[in-house]
Amino acid sequence: MTKKMKQGLLFVVSAPSGTGKTTLCRAMTRIFPGLHYSISHTTRQQRPGDEDGRDYHFTSPQEFQQMIDRSEFMEWAEIYGHRYGTSRAVVEKVLAEGRDVILDIDGQGAKQIREKKLPGAFIFVLPPSLEELERRLSNRRTERKADREDRLGKAKAEMAEAYWYDYLIVNDELEKAQEQLQAVILAGHCRRERMSEFVDEILTAK
Ligand code: ADP
Ligand code: 5GP
Repeated sequence: MTKKMKQGLLFVVSAPSGTGKTTLCRAMTRIFPGLHYSISHTTRQQRPGDEDGRDYHFTSPQEFQQMIDRSEFMEWAEIYGHRYGTSRAVVEKVLAEGRDVILDIDGQGAKQIREKKLPGAFIFVLPPSLEELERRLSNRRTERKADREDRLGKAKAEMAEAYWYDYLIVNDELEKAQEQLQAVILAGHCRRERMSEFVDEILTAK
């Protein structure tokens, strides 16, 4: 009997900038080799260490606008004066192939996906404290002071959005946070909607 291919699962991860969500999402792709980390399009400048096609698809504002006009984004948002968006076609293709997708996106984008009632697990990552968030942002050395202050200023408002997410993970000890995110992904595959066919198969087998 040929089994019907199951759609992959969509995991949406948000957190205030500097909390460690990129670190966590990247770690998941090592733990689950089939998991696809979605590479967003952005109009922001490349930072030292950023690689086009690996970290983002760096896109001109004109090109980004054309993509919006062609409805090519599953969600997009303006963050710190730049635009960021997720390609609908890529995500849909990977999910249709039965592979899971993880999105590292801000709360505005997560909300758009939630409002479109697209099935997904919504995960919010919290820093252990605002002081620690400030430390991580300055240790990362990727933003200027003004940009860091901008990010810290927005962190509280972003955290107030945590209440509507399905899962909350505090990224204090990295290893523990990784285990918790891993558990959410594994649990997604045990949900009744996915597994009930398996029960049917056992019960109807001769
Ligand atoms: P985000 O994607 O949320 O902006 P990053 O993944 O870039 O955050 O992490 C911000 C900084 O914090 C990086 O320098 C990263 O190495 C560090 N970091 C991530 N998780 C932890 C942790 N649990 N403890 C200490 N430092 C961490
Ligand atoms: P950074 O410029 O520091 O890489 O990212 C800034 C913020 O943009 C982060 O909160 C990140 O999660 C968010 N982001 C990255 N890609 C996307 C995207 O495709 N859509 C949305 N809505 N946010 C994104």
